[in-house]
Amino acid sequence: MVKPIKNVVKRLPRRHKITISGISAFLLLLIIWPSEQASASRNTYSLESFELGKRYPLELNLLDEDVALVPERTLDWVEYEIRSGDNLARIFQSLGFSAQQLHRLTQAEDANLLRRIHPGDTLQIARNDANEIIELRYDLNETETLVITQSEDGFYASSRDSKDVETRLEFAHATITSNFWNAGVQAGLTQSQIMNLAELFGWDIDFALDIRRGDQFSVLFEQKYIDGHYVGSGRIIAAEFINQRETFQAIRHENGRYYTPEGESMQKTFLRAPVHFSRVSSDFNPRRLHPVTGRVAPHNGIDYVAPTGTPVMAAGDGRVVASAYNNLNGHYIFVQHGERYMTKYLHLSRRQVSQGDRVRQGQVIGRVGATGRVTGAHLHYEFLVDGVHRNPRTVNLPQAESLPANELPAFKQLAASKVAMLESRQRVYLAFNND
Ligand SMILES: [Zn+2]
Repeated sequence: MVKPIKNVVKRLPRRHKITISGISAFLLLLIIWPSEQASASRNTYSLESFELGKRYPLELNLLDEDVALVPERTLDWVEYEIRSGDNLARIFQSLGFSAQQLHRLTQAEDANLLRRIHPGDTLQIARNDANEIIELRYDLNETETLVITQSEDGFYASSRDSKDVETRLEFAHATITSNFWNAGVQAGLTQSQIMNLAELFGWDIDFALDIRRGDQFSVLFEQKYIDGHYVGSGRIIAAEFINQRETFQAIRHENGRYYTPEGESMQKTFLRAPVHFSRVSSDFNPRRLHPVTGRVAPHNGIDYVAPTGTPVMAAGDGRVVASAYNNLNGHYIFVQHGERYMTKYLHLSRRQVSQGDRVRQGQVIGRVGATGRVTGAHLHYEFLVDGVHRNPRTVNLPQAESLPANELPAFKQLAASKVAMLESRQRVYLAFNND
């Protein structure tokens, strides 16, 4: 599809527009500049020294570059939309350019990026009277355009034109009524932001089993705009989660990690839950029935009811000390973390590590199953400190790494301002919404 573009001036690269307005500003300055200051510079003329009716040469050497651009206004721009089955050779041929022209153009550095073209993309091409390509523009993404221009010697050179991305801070708040995921969607968060939020607080809160009706969260996050148009959501800058009346806050540091307002890392030695919350079928069921006895029973571990095949993650870095099968546990894995801690994963359908393997936190070590003495698919998870069973969701986990002392004062100041922003936005939100 070939569309001629009439409004050529509008299509001039921004640099040219700037220099054109620069010329106007310069000429205006020449007119209004006080004579004393003008005479201070050798290249300008004192107004008193002008004689009426005499011609004076005006030095425009500063503007050579812009003068040379003037013929560009007469270029013929076409816009070509890529269709399926197109390739550069075919496109060039259909626009009446020679194969030799295409060959010369593709010698430009970065011209190989043109191989990325796919249906729906557009190429903008400027040609002169001799049907030579003077400039070719191809949008690489929302913000960047590949620009290939012919220089005076006939060679082509490439450059990138980038648009300014404006970042605005947005606020979202929700009170959980059915489950965390729905609350996130209702608050207007994207899927990846909901995931990020759960990841962010996933060391403190077990999103699979600990979320309750009435829990709340507030999030300050970036939204990106180009020329006033929304182009996507960005990072979470600050967030607060109130889980069963306990408040957790996380602030983003410029190093990309998240810390409490006091500068302690959100990231801990152990994950609260070894399965992803989105796979666990438990909407607020504080009384977990034992899958075999069907009663709330004293229990050495925690059961996560999830479909067979759901990935099971190592809760922390460690070494696999057992990966085996027996009639009671089914397929099971034990992981030792340092000297004091051990985690156990039972009833798996599949084991993906062997005894002696080193594992990293979050690494998938097996899959949820229904092997051993069970009635349905679930993960039985145990957490032991010095050989004693502890509740992994309430036990005090090893202290997380804090920010270095020299970074603390600046971070605490930043964190305080972000928390204040979060709270003031929260007050405004709650004043206008009853939830
Ligand atoms: Zn169990």
